[in-house]
Amino acid sequence: MEADVFVIGCGPAGLQAAIHASRKKASVAVAGKAASSGAYGAVIENYVGVSRRPGEEILAEGRAQAESFGASFLDMNVISASAADGRFRFVMEDGTEVSAKAVVIATGISRKALGIPGEKDLLGKGVSYCAVCDCNFYKGRKVVVVGNDSEAAVSARLMTSYASETHWVRWEEAADPGLASKALDAGAVEHRSKPKAVEGDGKVERLVLEDGESIPTDGVFIELGARSSAYIAMDLGVMPEIDDTIRIGADCSTEVQGVFACGDVTGRPWQVAKAVGQGCVAGMSAADYARRLE
Ligand SMILES: Cc1cc2nc3c(=O)[nH]c(=O)nc-3n(C[C@H](O)[C@H](O)[C@H](O)COP(=O)(O)OP(=O)(O)OC[C@H]3O[C@@H](n4cnc5c(N)ncnc54)[C@H](O)[C@@H]3O)c2cc1C
Repeated sequence: MEADVFVIGCGPAGLQAAIHASRKKASVAVAGKAASSGAYGAVIENYVGVSRRPGEEILAEGRAQAESFGASFLDMNVISASAADGRFRFVMEDGTEVSAKAVVIATGISRKALGIPGEKDLLGKGVSYCAVCDCNFYKGRKVVVVGNDSEAAVSARLMTSYASETHWVRWEEAADPGLASKALDAGAVEHRSKPKAVEGDGKVERLVLEDGESIPTDGVFIELGARSSAYIAMDLGVMPEIDDTIRIGADCSTEVQGVFACGDVTGRPWQVAKAVGQGCVAGMSAADYARRLE
């Protein structure tokens, strides 16, 4: 298969890139699985014009829009990528080969899990990996934020503005001391032990710690950072940052000509609004780049 622009990822960033590249009359192919998007299964309520809409609806409508402008979809993952003779080549899960003039990496991130009993079963039933996304659901309720780093400190502070009780569970002092102090000064109650299990009957009721303490709670926010599919970028000659993100310029270009990136894979904030904004820029930049090669 040949395309002017190959978009890797069909979350909000990839879909927006596909829409804008297609509208610039580039031929566009999109890879990825909707169900792997961070937005799938989420309820989005802070994206302009969207009040509490299931992410899967936004993804389905975004795909239909992209298709209506001419983009084609391959519902599978890229397993390897290479660059040669001014073109980028990709191999898909089923062995299909794709060749493109420009590529947009929109592979998102996967949040790091604790890997403790109850975490997976109670995901969406009180377990969350995104305080910024879900804080509003916990107004006046009890929450626990888990994590050692600055992002956990920031989340703990944020939750003190919403929850009636905010607990912060950490077992190392890896957070910026200033941010940690702000969380504690705002009222977050610190616990120094590793989590052992999330418990509850159909919804989160408590977090049990390794030191034996049991914290009654309505929500557990796991803020341990994220991993990305940045290995594809490396195959194309783009070296990810130490935190696995891809550095981009104002036009969403990377250090390798013809390779663009957008969305969660470029770093925080992990939000639909940012993903879509960057997707628009990346899609247009990639289409312009492909056209210049004609
Ligand atoms: C529980 C939860 C709740 C959230 N709530 C909100 C909210 O309320 N508001 C908000 O703004 N944001 C929210 N978010 C965050 C939001 O979902 C993400 O910021 C957004 O989805 C990022 O878009 P993206 O396109 O960059 O990445 P994603 O949506 O994660 O999409 C990544 C895509 O890359 C594809 N991919 C990965 N690797 C490969 C590969 N090797 N080959 C091909 N394709 C690949 C995947 O299949 C997927 O299609 C929430 C996230 C979660 C998990």
